[in-house]
Amino acid sequence: MLTVAVSLRYVNQSICELCFKVCYNGPKWLVIFCGYSTPDLVMTQPETNAVYPITIQDILIYRVQAFDNYLHLTHAIFTRKGGLSQPPFYALNLSVSVGDSPQTVAKNIELACRIVNTTPNQTISCYLVHGADVLTVTQNNQQRVMGHADGLITGEPEVYLFMRFGDCTPLIFFDPIQNAVGLTHAGWRGTMKNAAGATVKAMTRQLGCQPKDIMAVIGPSIGPCCYEVGKDVMAAAQSLMASDSLFQPNGTPNHAYFDMWEAYRRQLEATGVEQIIQSKLCTACRTDEFFSHRAEKGRTGRFGVIIGLKEAAA
Ligand SMILES: [Zn+2]
Repeated sequence: MLTVAVSLRYVNQSICELCFKVCYNGPKWLVIFCGYSTPDLVMTQPETNAVYPITIQDILIYRVQAFDNYLHLTHAIFTRKGGLSQPPFYALNLSVSVGDSPQTVAKNIELACRIVNTTPNQTISCYLVHGADVLTVTQNNQQRVMGHADGLITGEPEVYLFMRFGDCTPLIFFDPIQNAVGLTHAGWRGTMKNAAGATVKAMTRQLGCQPKDIMAVIGPSIGPCCYEVGKDVMAAAQSLMASDSLFQPNGTPNHAYFDMWEAYRRQLEATGVEQIIQSKLCTACRTDEFFSHRAEKGRTGRFGVIIGLKEAAA
């Protein structure tokens, strides 16, 4: 009996809910036909989570549901699943700075780029330094590792912003009105320097965005369940922001759990961003899917985030 599975999600590429193969590869409402025998019509429920997992060519990624409405926007939050690296970098490690084989990492980057229909030559990275500098990049910067910065923004198509993470937070930005994207890396130092707000301001000044139009995603990173910090971080936060409820005592003197996700949310809100999307995925809790520097005691890899805009169809 022919079974029809209908997904109510608008996607570029997806997996048949029944036979677990990529059954359709194109932008349209996903309608899957497969030979799996079942008496019932299978209706996939609309995705309710802010980000959702999907496996493409054996690589597990998360996508931002709100971004699926924009066909010219390409993005992926990669996980550790699907690459070629051996433990402790198993498997989709995208960083050469952690001790993994550079050849293997290069292959992993090619695999990751293929998932978002781009190539390593079209990506742009930067040397992450836990600051709040944001660089505006263009097609002239493709295939480059820019200078020291923790934020990249662009208003040009075919420019794919690419960064690596392993507990620090990917802050992912998209303005569908100005067709601009941004990607920022932020740990606790980035929180204190307000890297989130700096990115919004850079998009406003450099690319003509209005904060209210910007969609901002707080991506997978170490969460308030696991991020224990000392009194230095607490003192720094108290001097810079309303830090009440950002710290929860954890029973250890002069230590507490820090809610970076909420800190980013407040900082984004303060700049006028209204569409703030929390992925609420803790890398330290989920080392089955993500690399976590802290949970894996420094011997681990880095997962990637890529975002860019496709050239508009003629
Ligand atoms: Zn956790």
